[in-house]
Amino acid sequence: MIDQKMNENRVPRDFYARDPEEQQLFLTDTWCDHCQQLGLGMRDPEEYELFGMIFIEGKCCQCGEAVLTELTEDEFDDE
Ligand SMILES: [Zn+2]
Repeated sequence: MIDQKMNENRVPRDFYARDPEEQQLFLTDTWCDHCQQLGLGMRDPEEYELFGMIFIEGKCCQCGEAVLTELTEDEFDDE
């Protein structure tokens, strides 16, 4: 059984520990639901793990609404 409280179990990760090039990619390769546009970029990124997936959450550079990037497993492989 999955405990519903898992919802609150965000595990913070250090976005800035990533490769600078990788950081740049995540900051520019975005989708904004509010603007309905790709690649507007995000600021104030926060990285965390939830349900075994990695998320990077920031604010859209254009409208300031929350932007969420979900990483698939092979994207956060350390290799
Ligand atoms: Zn936006």
